[in-house]
Amino acid sequence: MNERYSRQQLFAPIGKEGQQRISIKHVLIVGAGALGTGSAEALVRAGIGQLTLIDRDYVEWSNLQRQQLYSEEDAKQRLPKAIAAKQRLERINSDVSIQAIIGDANAEELERIASELKPDVIIDATDNFETRMTINDVSCKYRIPWIYGACVGSYGLSYTFLPGETPCFQCLLETLPAGGPTCDTAGIISPAVQMVVAYQVAEALKLLVGDKSSLRRKLVSFDVWNNQYAAIRVDQVKKSHCPSCGQHPTYPYLSYEMQTKTAVLCGRDSVQIRPATKRDYDLQELAQLFLRQGLVAEANPYLLSVSLGDYRFVIFQDGRALIHGTKDIQTAKTIYYRYLG
Ligand SMILES: [Zn+2]
Repeated sequence: MNERYSRQQLFAPIGKEGQQRISIKHVLIVGAGALGTGSAEALVRAGIGQLTLIDRDYVEWSNLQRQQLYSEEDAKQRLPKAIAAKQRLERINSDVSIQAIIGDANAEELERIASELKPDVIIDATDNFETRMTINDVSCKYRIPWIYGACVGSYGLSYTFLPGETPCFQCLLETLPAGGPTCDTAGIISPAVQMVVAYQVAEALKLLVGDKSSLRRKLVSFDVWNNQYAAIRVDQVKKSHCPSCGQHPTYPYLSYEMQTKTAVLCGRDSVQIRPATKRDYDLQELAQLFLRQGLVAEANPYLLSVSLGDYRFVIFQDGRALIHGTKDIQTAKTIYYRYLG
């Protein structure tokens, strides 16, 4: 038999049978930053059958302190995170089928993944509210459990949402700490990330082997620097009129109107712009256009990076772009439409 998973099989709640179950399961991880790379590595090492990873960003030097799958070479090449993560994960465990998607985890894309690929569990590794609300609606509509995780500074929290059983994210909103520092102001240390990853992956493994009775069932929060820990019951906050998990759900975040086309990225001094319809750019050709205007443009197979004085303009093949050096949406739009019309 396969030695590879022997220690995991010796762990009684998993055993040989549990390992068998794990090996045919499919996990969707939304986001390939600190939480996403941590969960992905743990689950790929644990021997899941299939992993789908979606991320809209590329590797930068400021990621290397905590985003464990990436190397200096990835940052130098500005590789999309989904691609760099897939390459590294395939070297860790070649038995796992890994699908990497470069793009926004918007309603359309998450619904496509949920309906076509039917993941067994969704792991939240995003850094923003809107995507979490979208994951929540997809989870409720397609009856897929999702595991929330968030961290900032030395603080983190996690909760496991089970459609039809627990309250959903929408129900829980008033209970969650609102506002507060974001990664813009507070920074982050890797032990806080690792702690959230540990909670998320442990819950994922319980779900994958079918050991629901061992699920935590509480909202856990901690601070590894200030030595605090709390686990609170939240069952009673489930609302029967909730638009996502109530008796007559409308799944508000899956409607077209809720999908923003521009977003200010967390902690990045950057704005993302998505065109109304997807485009299909030949990046080398586009690079030539910029070069002819006397601009410095560098392309790899996935994106084109153009230096514009104080700003850097990064264009993906489908027309989505990141404008670095500003948090102002209007400035970013002006740059975008000036060059890509
Ligand atoms: Zn709800």
